Amino acid sequence: MKVRILGAHSAEVKGQRMVSLLIDGILALDAGGLTSSLSLREQQKVRAVLLTHHHFDHSRDLVTLGSNGATFASPVYIYALSETLEILHFCLLDGKMYADFSKWPSKERPFLRPNVVEPLKPLNIEGYTVLPVPVQHAVPSVGFQITSMDGKSLFYTGDTGPGLEACWQHISPQLLIVEVSGINKSQGFLKSVGHLSAGLLKEELLHFRQVKGYLPRVVVIHIPPQFESGINREIKIVARELKMRIDIGFEGMKITI
Ligand SMILES: [Zn+2]
Ligand SMILES: [Zn+2]
Repeated sequence: MKVRILGAHSAEVKGQRMVSLLIDGILALDAGGLTSSLSLREQQKVRAVLLTHHHFDHSRDLVTLGSNGATFASPVYIYALSETLEILHFCLLDGKMYADFSKWPSKERPFLRPNVVEPLKPLNIEGYTVLPVPVQHAVPSVGFQITSMDGKSLFYTGDTGPGLEACWQHISPQLLIVEVSGINKSQGFLKSVGHLSAGLLKEELLHFRQVKGYLPRVVVIHIPPQFESGINREIKIVARELKMRIDIGFEGMKITI
């Protein structure tokens, strides 16, 4: 399984894009920096977009993908919780701000095709087994475990705060792509809005090891550009303390598992 990080940040500045991952060129996880990272040919290969939740930094490129894709030969399937799809329908793809690409070019053959996922109900998407697992964010959110046919698997948390013990019970990934959205000094605030600091991540990884008996390779994304150097420093300390590998994700990073 080849994973490409398209966007590794929670905000957009030159050279840094909002969160989005691409698996084997066909399966996108979140759509923060999807179209700005991919050529038209690459966009035409994307078969499905899985959204962890509705927040703008994870969903915005559905509009630009829709705009590019309305003339593509194949539609793109959007997988998300019903709460997520509902808000996208009323706010992002409302047909007033721009075209509603879930009804365009025609109601009968739209380009974007929404599908509801339910927590802990596995689905087969393009040959991958996809398991949506609830995480702890300010709005209804799921992380996704993606398992390929050859048994390789990753878990992407999307946005989450602490309290992932129940989540860990359901997954066994070789690669964990997880968020860290601020520095340890802001831990109280991060916790209250459903995000992690490096210190909070350490606690979650200790729970993971307790529950699963191992630690996967970890890549951190959803980094606010203004806190990148602080987060980098604090993550290095956690990696040293836990005697494990933790990488800071970046745009264009490629990981093979
Ligand atoms: Zn969010
Ligand atoms: Zn976010």
